[in-house]
Amino acid sequence: MIYDFIVIGAGAAGLTFIDKIIKSNNEIKIALVEAGNLKNDSLKDYKDISFIKNKINPVDEKRAFLFGGTTNLWGGFCRPLDFEDFISRSDINKNEWPFDINELNKYLDEAKKVLELKENFKIKNKPKESKTLTDFNLEEIDFDYSNKQIFFKKYKSLNNKIDIYLNNIAYKFVIDEQNKSVKSLDIIEAKTKSKKRIYSKNFILSLGGLETTRFLLNNNKFYKQNYFNNSKTLGKGFNDHPHFYVGNYVSFKDFHKTNKIKSVRYFKNTHKFQLENKILNSSIRLTSIKNPVDTNYDLIEEFKILFPNITKKILYTGRIMVVSEQRSILENMMELDNTKKDNFGIPKINFKYELTKFDLDNIRKTSINISKWLASSEHGRAKLLNWIMDENLMPNSNDYMWYGHHMSTTRMGLNANSSVVDHNLKIHSLNNAYIVSSSIFPSGGASNPTFTIVQLALRLAEHLKTIS
Ligand SMILES: Cc1cc2nc3c(=O)[nH]c(=O)nc-3n(C[C@H](O)[C@H](O)[C@H](O)COP(=O)(O)OP(=O)(O)OC[C@H]3O[C@@H](n4cnc5c(N)ncnc54)[C@H](O)[C@@H]3O)c2cc1C
Repeated sequence: MIYDFIVIGAGAAGLTFIDKIIKSNNEIKIALVEAGNLKNDSLKDYKDISFIKNKINPVDEKRAFLFGGTTNLWGGFCRPLDFEDFISRSDINKNEWPFDINELNKYLDEAKKVLELKENFKIKNKPKESKTLTDFNLEEIDFDYSNKQIFFKKYKSLNNKIDIYLNNIAYKFVIDEQNKSVKSLDIIEAKTKSKKRIYSKNFILSLGGLETTRFLLNNNKFYKQNYFNNSKTLGKGFNDHPHFYVGNYVSFKDFHKTNKIKSVRYFKNTHKFQLENKILNSSIRLTSIKNPVDTNYDLIEEFKILFPNITKKILYTGRIMVVSEQRSILENMMELDNTKKDNFGIPKINFKYELTKFDLDNIRKTSINISKWLASSEHGRAKLLNWIMDENLMPNSNDYMWYGHHMSTTRMGLNANSSVVDHNLKIHSLNNAYIVSSSIFPSGGASNPTFTIVQLALRLAEHLKTIS
């Protein structure tokens, strides 16, 4: 049997692609290869075998090997990228998307349906506050919330329509070197370790933001021709979304009341602010704490001592969190360590990662901007952490965390010398292999990535629906 498509990885990316392409033509023959099973996350079995531990960002703990992929773990926060995320920033060497936001906007409503969302994602300035928000170059934004296991549940509807190989590790592409196309895929059954070869006309790599890159790095070794790493960028320029607790605030106004989710409001800096301050995108979360148990009474006392003349009533306290877009640096990277192999003979990944001063400055400038707005609009007063106010200090490791947004190590671009896939997500040097994953994001913006992954999967299915 020769399939029309072999899809590797049953996460949001792979399943969205399959769902759309079989709806366009139910004659299409598809095989889905998934390392996990239906019962429990196989991460326990794979975690320690594919990554060598990294101290700063424990990326390997932030994914799931299970039908439905990492959306079995996720928070479900959804928001598309902003228009500025697609625009190049030569001043800070940001990698450029090969198209603008309109290309993905074509799939906005379809992606909302896939993720069961209602929000329209328009930037909103509340009438009363719009002046002060504009003065500080701030915009109010919103997230919507999808569900855990939303993709896991798709198993039942796909089970009779396609061949599903659960507990199978995709291992090796067999390439027809004359035609520059992949002929077949070698897979390993995880429990028995028996090998099998399956054939297809086209291949979709949707193994997630880490394992897709690992698969390609490993496959690159099998061929003299540098099929997957001609550009020497494969595995390089990893991005995450650093997520920081930056301080607390006291509030004189009940300014969270109007929001859909009562206790949280989200903001971002305008594009103008980003350009003027030489920073990238970010999002700010003001979370009010209205219950007496968690109220920050120390902060209230401190405030009264610092500002004895301010007699306004403090209604509640809150926390400020900032999520930033990261600047891609080649040194943040994944490479194979051929001396350390997993149970299936695949080399582990040596993951190198650091937060740069640029990333921290983005967090600092963003935090200071929102605290100025709080004060000037008389919403309250913020107390930012010491490292925000003093750039000679470094954040405490308890102040930041990682979302598990694994981006940019198989970048998309028009130039085959500086990217891995083209604007249609096809691997530059092959005719029939495509990647759909956050690993293709040239840059990551500050929105959680899955909405964009789903848009890209829908776009790829639209592009390929007539190819088979
Ligand atoms: C704790 C946590 C919270 C998150 N919260 C959010 C959020 O609120 N909003 C948001 O947008 N994003 C969130 N994310 C990120 C989000 O979960 C991912 O972006 C998304 O699930 C990625 O989907 P994917 O299909 O690209 O990859 P994955 O979901 O990782 O799917 C890849 C699939 O490929 C399989 N696979 C891997 N290697 C192989 C192999 N060799 N052979 C065969 N199969 C293989 C895996 O088993 C897996 O099922 C969160 C992540 C974490 C960890």
